Amino acid sequence: MSIIADSVTKLYGKQKALDNVSFSVNKGEIVGLLGPNGAGKSTMMKIITCYLPQNKGKVSVCGYDTENQSMEVRKRVGYLPENNPLYLDMYVREFLKFIAGIHKLGANTKERIRDVVDKAGLGPEIHKKIGELSKGYRQRVGLAQALLHSPEVLILDEPTSGLDPNQIVDIRDLIKEIGKEKTVLLSTHIMQEVEILCDRVIIINEGVIAADSPTSELKDISDTKKVVIVEFQKHVDTDEIKSIEGVQDVIVNDNIYNIIPETNADLRPEIFKTASSKNWVILSIGYEELKLEDIFRKLTS
Ligand code: ADP
Ligand code: MG
Repeated sequence: MSIIADSVTKLYGKQKALDNVSFSVNKGEIVGLLGPNGAGKSTMMKIITCYLPQNKGKVSVCGYDTENQSMEVRKRVGYLPENNPLYLDMYVREFLKFIAGIHKLGANTKERIRDVVDKAGLGPEIHKKIGELSKGYRQRVGLAQALLHSPEVLILDEPTSGLDPNQIVDIRDLIKEIGKEKTVLLSTHIMQEVEILCDRVIIINEGVIAADSPTSELKDISDTKKVVIVEFQKHVDTDEIKSIEGVQDVIVNDNIYNIIPETNADLRPEIFKTASSKNWVILSIGYEELKLEDIFRKLTS
């Protein structure tokens, strides 16, 4: 197991930022820590990377305890902090050399810099000052810095936040590539990002885990129902629709009826039958799964 968080609680004064949080990340997984602002994502990441101590519970990375064996943990963890703080006056190569010094890479420095510059696609920018780079390239510098000491585990705190759509795609591709070799825990408040990048999603809200499941199964665990969306030619009494077997609720917007089933059964045949027996004219009928976005809102609202 690459990361284990066991009953972690973190208080800032009286405020509980994490409340008895437990999860684990397997070697080689890309896991998304998804939650709205203030959920506790950054706090969790600071604890995993030994920047903050927890008040209760245990965290281990590659079998090493973050409190008692923090040097061992730091060797194995690469960290891209939120907002990617960088020294804007430093040249890219100079900055990477500086980070290499912190990690005491010694004789390996040149080779490691060459490798991360290549991986992060920084080649053309290496002679520039960090302050002269676009936000997308600064993010690449942040990733390069996190990869420099060849860590097994990468912790990326909102790695695509603040980037333009093209840069987002580039950085996501880069993370996918990196994820082939490393264990990655990344945080985001964007559901789509999790769908694109992650094998598994851990949803956190107000310091509590609301869901933890493979991305592909998230829809199942949240007991997804398919809503039937019907446009009738004329107004139909919603009570009559509600009396159709299997219907839980009806929400009407203009002439569009969102018919919510009690179970995840397909309501369309029953609706058709009822409509034809009552001479309701159906102009259109659709069938829509609750989206991950909705599930996220449901779990975190
Ligand atoms: P996220 O990264 O999910 O947005 P954070 O971990 O940054 O959430 O914050 C979790 C909660 O802890 C928030 O309510 C935030 O205001 C609070 N918090 C974070 N850092 C501090 C701090 N240094 N001092 C006091 N409160 C903090
Ligand atoms: Mg944060």
